[in-house]
Amino acid sequence: MQRGPEIKGWCPGAFAPMPSGDGLLIRAKAVGSRLTATQAREIARIAEDCGNGLIDLSQRAQLQLRGISESTIAEALRRLEAIGMLAPNVDVERVTNVIASPLAGLAPGAFDANAMAAELAIALRRDATLRALPPKFLFLLDDGGALSLAEVDADIRIEAATNGELAIRIADVPDRAAFVAADEALDAALRLARAFVELREHHANQFRRIRTLVEALGAQVLARAAGLELRAFGDTHTAARGAQIFGAQRCGSIAFAGVGAPFGRWRAEELAAVADFAQGAGTGELRLTPWRALLIVTPDVEAAQKIVAQAQDHDLITSANDMRLAVVACPGAPECPQALAETRAHVMDLAPLAQKFVGADGVGLHLSGCAKGCARQNASPITLLACAEGFDLIENGGADSAPHLKSLTFEAVLRELSARASGRPQ
Ligand code: SF4
Repeated sequence: MQRGPEIKGWCPGAFAPMPSGDGLLIRAKAVGSRLTATQAREIARIAEDCGNGLIDLSQRAQLQLRGISESTIAEALRRLEAIGMLAPNVDVERVTNVIASPLAGLAPGAFDANAMAAELAIALRRDATLRALPPKFLFLLDDGGALSLAEVDADIRIEAATNGELAIRIADVPDRAAFVAADEALDAALRLARAFVELREHHANQFRRIRTLVEALGAQVLARAAGLELRAFGDTHTAARGAQIFGAQRCGSIAFAGVGAPFGRWRAEELAAVADFAQGAGTGELRLTPWRALLIVTPDVEAAQKIVAQAQDHDLITSANDMRLAVVACPGAPECPQALAETRAHVMDLAPLAQKFVGADGVGLHLSGCAKGCARQNASPITLLACAEGFDLIENGGADSAPHLKSLTFEAVLRELSARASGRPQ
């Protein structure tokens, strides 16, 4: 371990913990989607010994431990390092942001996304130029297998294409990509990242993500700077929420149990139990997903069914129809200092109503503690935004959209949603 933690207020890492209403938040760094039962069990123990026993599975498929204190953080980092879930230093940690296909290497795909994620992590460690990438910059590796990452936002994507080639996509350019041989894909993606760093520096570092550079300069400028040519490539945004991931699933020759916790927030004992399931009826392996669920890999679907029954005893989410999935809510008060109200405390009241409004991705209602809208960037059928005097109600928009109704009490929100759900005007 090269240096101690720096306390920062954004983009949590292990070396850059984020202060929160319940203590420090640190991230256990996974490169790729694989997590062993041993790692999961130790993370649960670290959360209990060094934090407040709560672990978030983020939309970037990373585990974050909550309630860490100044006096326990050194031990937490030492133990994360022991299970291979700590970057070598703060600079490498900041730029090693990679999300890979959840079933990489298990189910058929165009390439092994986890193996490529490991290579990418080594390249990010060695290449000093890439240390200048902004901290939220995300690489995404989609092998084109059963669980598509098409809906997941990223700066640079390597995706399955045709004719044995891979496609290199740039964020917010849905209709074009550069095509390269599979063994050249990583190098091409890294050239693109370096070109972004150089163009960004040339423009006084005003671009925080690739999409802002593309808006200002155009994708072709970036691609040419990386020696790539963009050609037509259709929008692959077809899969809804990782297709079917909850419950007992068979996927070609493999099977898994898809298990979630509400809002991706796991109690340490739940994560430890899932690790035990993976060790018992499973193969000892879990997969991290950006859908805030864990996949427990099993030798057959019968074993997956057994795990699902065990998970139900822990009140975990094992079905896409679970009403808790219809509501997306940020942590809100008191955890987030910017929040204007509690959010998750209201969810069980809202969930039955939210189910009446669900859209194609299974979400009916987004409850946000402030206009930042951290929990969901996409539009939702209903968004409730905490404001100084209650909640604003937004239809078919995001947290930053104009409200349809303003400053409702929570009781008025429930009345309004009930009326809408039954088709009665208010
Ligand atoms: S949306 Fe606002 S209140 Fe909610 S977590 Fe983000 S910053 Fe905090």
